[in-house]
Amino acid sequence: MQLKLTYNRRKTHTVEVGNICLGSDYPIRVQTMANTSTNDIDASVEQARRCIEAGAELLRYTTQGMREVESLREIHEQVLTSVPLVADVHFQADVADAAAQVVEKVRINPGNYIDPARKFQHIDYSNTEYRQELQRLRERFTRLLDICKEYHTAIRLGVNHGSLSDRIMSRYGDTPAGMVESVMEFLRVAEDEHFPNIVISIKASNTRVMVETVRLLVKEMRHEKMDYPLHLGVTEAGEGEDGRIKSAVGIGALLADGIGDTVRVSLSEAPEHEIPVARDLVDYFTDPDSTRYDGSVVAEVLDNIGGNAEVRYSSMEDNWELFCLQAAAESGRLLWDYKATELTLVNPNFSESKLNFLSKDILQAARVRMYKTEYISCPGCGRTLFDLEKTIQEVKAATQHLNGLKIGIMGCIVNGPGEMADADYGYVGAGRERVSLYRGKECVLKNIPQEEAVEQLLKLIEQDKQQS
Ligand code: SF4
Repeated sequence: MQLKLTYNRRKTHTVEVGNICLGSDYPIRVQTMANTSTNDIDASVEQARRCIEAGAELLRYTTQGMREVESLREIHEQVLTSVPLVADVHFQADVADAAAQVVEKVRINPGNYIDPARKFQHIDYSNTEYRQELQRLRERFTRLLDICKEYHTAIRLGVNHGSLSDRIMSRYGDTPAGMVESVMEFLRVAEDEHFPNIVISIKASNTRVMVETVRLLVKEMRHEKMDYPLHLGVTEAGEGEDGRIKSAVGIGALLADGIGDTVRVSLSEAPEHEIPVARDLVDYFTDPDSTRYDGSVVAEVLDNIGGNAEVRYSSMEDNWELFCLQAAAESGRLLWDYKATELTLVNPNFSESKLNFLSKDILQAARVRMYKTEYISCPGCGRTLFDLEKTIQEVKAATQHLNGLKIGIMGCIVNGPGEMADADYGYVGAGRERVSLYRGKECVLKNIPQEEAVEQLLKLIEQDKQQS
């Protein structure tokens, strides 16, 4: 069956972020996040300039406390452009209040806005206690909304699969429904307070979970007559070709649905590298002159003998990087929606073996099959405690033979353990050149010197293998 490739964008209301608009018929905005220390003003401004030159339309900064809010004020003054700045706030509602008076948009995480850091504990709330928690959320969030109204600041409600609160987890489990409800709790308050200037993101490193959850959120919003714009991204996607393919599989599936008003491709690389990838993905779906619509791209689903469906993607694109992105962006959705387990890529410009490797990489990025070690690495930010790119290369070199294993490499202990999601093992920054090693969610070696960490990680994996 040959599929008709169309693009019908989901209708949303407009959100104003400084002097740009998101949603509705406005272009899909591409954005990135700085990985400098926010308090290093010179480095942050330099990096901002590089990102803007690459085409970034919004720039986000880690905002751990009041000192970072003041630094943002300075960065804001020095980045004399029309690009709005976004403060990324976790755990501290007061910091969000302060940042909302300085920058154009504040990202808060519903998983830790009023709830404490996750301890992976089950909490039994009675219905009355749960209602009391919601009331506490309402009161606190309304204060932020009032400030945002006064300063014309937008909000992003940014849920991450790995940082759902123990409260939500205890009631809804680690499920798409739990992630969606954690957003809806905030949106209901915003609706009551007549505050429309909100964008929503739900991210996960598992592309399948991310797409399923965002689709569910769209359905739920429609059900409650809400039409907030959406920010798309696959979190902890990693770096290099794998990171690009994983991002394209998740983001592409939603763009193909017509969902998405702003995009961030999270790579464990310099943030300016993220922009062209996001731009290429957006253009592939939204530009009427894109190869997707000129008849040279064919997407088919075939029913093979034995009942397992096969996706076939054919294209004449002669740029390998673009072809990788486009094939991944189109195929993931088809693999899931048609329950296909095979993927064939056809392109006369590239060798069969190259195409076969790419199809395996896409199947793995879509979590349809595992062929090699899976790396879940954060993009790095002002909290990162080691040289992320170098560390990733070291861990990869030592573990790439461990087919099927999922290894998290996370820059900090604050968000790392939660956000490495379903990794089997985790290598997490614990302090300057100190690392903690995790087996699943359990910290098994705390605060060890970084130079010993790779060896200890291999030892741990080997011990576990012998005991299993
Ligand atoms: S895990 Fe920590 S260092 Fe990495 S991006 Fe998240 S907050 Fe930043």
